[in-house]
Order: sequence, then C-alpha cells, then structure tokens
Amino acid sequence: MNPRDQPGLAVTFQDCDWKETADPAKVVFFSFNCQRNPGRRHYTLPIAGRVVWKRDGQNQNDGTAQWDWDGNMQAPTVTPSIHCKGCCHGYITRGAWDDRGAG
Ligand SMILES: [Zn+2]
Repeated sequence: MNPRDQPGLAVTFQDCDWKETADPAKVVFFSFNCQRNPGRRHYTLPIAGRVVWKRDGQNQNDGTAQWDWDGNMQAPTVTPSIHCKGCCHGYITRGAWDDRGAG
C-alpha cells in the first residue's frame, strides 16, 4: 500500500535513488503523513550526516534543514522538530507525532 494511504504517521525511509529501502545504512531521506492536514505527505526530509549539503536549520544560510535520526525504522525518533511553514510543527518521537510544545 502507498504510505500516504496508510493511517497514522507512516514514516518511510528512502535511499539516494529515492527507493524505499530496507537497509538502514543506506537511508538518506524520510517521509511521513502530515498529522495536521489529512491527505498531505511530507517528502524527502534529509538525514544529517547522509547528505552532502550544508546543514542549515532554517534553510536560510545556503544549506538545507536536516534531522538527526536514531536509526530505528519501525519507531523512529528524529530531532530537532519539523516545522513546515503554514502546515504543521511538531516532533517525531518513537514513531509518533507530538506537536505539544512546538510553537
Ligand atoms: Zn504538515
């Protein structure tokens, strides 16, 4: 089933060829279903240390926002928070979305 048709967060991981991958060592991006706007999916968020781009939390200084990942594919934790302007702001912790405490 397409992850965007699955209920819940449905976090998936991709390698650099954009394939969904089962090898955590090759993971470069993650994607998840938006929990604020149903039907929307946030795609290809870069994982820090797996991409060559300069890390830039706000996408304002010549780089890209990136997230640290704990390596868990089933119940992932990524940091810092994910802020999609005009859409949602929250944390993915142990495979669950939490927007408490996110402005
Ligand atoms: Zn969203």
